[in-house]
Amino acid sequence: MDEIDLRSDTVTQPTPRMRQAMAQAPVGDDVYGEDPTVNALEERAAALLGQEAALFCATGSLANLLGVWLCAGPGGEILCDSQAHIVRAELGAHARLHGVGTRTWDSAAGVPDPAVVAALVAEPSDHLVATKAVELENTHNFGGGTVIPWPTVQAVAALAAERGLAFHLDGARLGNASIAAGRPLADFGRLATTVTLCLSKGLGAPVGSILASSRERVAAARGRRKLLGGGWRQAGVLAAAGLYALDHNLDRLADDHDNARLFAAAVAEQAPAAVPPTVPTNIVILGTGGLDAVATAAAAAAEGVRLSVLGPRQLRAVTHLGVDAAQCQTAGRLLGRLLGPGR
Ligand SMILES: *Cc1c(COP(=O)(O)O)cnc(C)c1O
Repeated sequence: MDEIDLRSDTVTQPTPRMRQAMAQAPVGDDVYGEDPTVNALEERAAALLGQEAALFCATGSLANLLGVWLCAGPGGEILCDSQAHIVRAELGAHARLHGVGTRTWDSAAGVPDPAVVAALVAEPSDHLVATKAVELENTHNFGGGTVIPWPTVQAVAALAAERGLAFHLDGARLGNASIAAGRPLADFGRLATTVTLCLSKGLGAPVGSILASSRERVAAARGRRKLLGGGWRQAGVLAAAGLYALDHNLDRLADDHDNARLFAAAVAEQAPAAVPPTVPTNIVILGTGGLDAVATAAAAAAEGVRLSVLGPRQLRAVTHLGVDAAQCQTAGRLLGRLLGPGR
């Protein structure tokens, strides 16, 4: 049996057509600003995200590192969800490299209460760390692919503007949020001071993420990226994959959402308690009940289905362009069997 890999939407392989686009891309030295394909991708991504300019980065973590630095560093603090990728999954880079502190709010599945966010803002003073920025993650990864509703994004952006704070939007999966909410990427992007987008997840590129912002901020981020060792040369071969992804793989994210729901429904046939009440996008967080998550993931892997372990009693399945509806149902039935009462 072919392996069904639902650990992450980062496991996608470039398709033959994407590889063809990469092979044919005109390239130049991007540190000199001379790679036409990188320049085209940056222009295209900026327009899509409703910003003036964009920077092509190796990873989403680097794009976030630069965005948070622009918004809050050095020495300031950024407010964010306690389950945010920037606090949990980037190895403390914002603190370690840029002296940025975080204070966090708790939420249901990643959707903040704007009043709770407002209450966290520190008044300027001589003894409190200065609050410089607010961060949202849309969709919210550890929240289970949650789409932060449009009115909530607007309320947080308005709060930031009122209090003189920057607003960083971790849009690693903003394409998924855009498709699920039926709103263009630019609607979300233009509310942010800095916004990121991963090309290497559901969009299917092998490498790369975007940071978008004003021309001035992007110029500063370009210098900072070089300082961190992230300047690259004929990166157009990678940017070509990103352009291909933006042209062909945004709308199809809806299929991933459908497949995630099929997966959850198949699990629920035998293990209804394991699945969340709704599946908003391409992520399904399964509760293992009394079972050990590591052992359950190993049992699933032994039968050809790979999931990631989020916690001692939590597994995560992520759909993507490398798995079809039938595979998601097959995987769901297996997990239902492993997690259901009949096991
Ligand atoms: C994947 C991800 C990132 C960045 O990940 P990289 O692996 O560094 O590209 C940032 N934020 C969220 C929410 C993510 O899921």
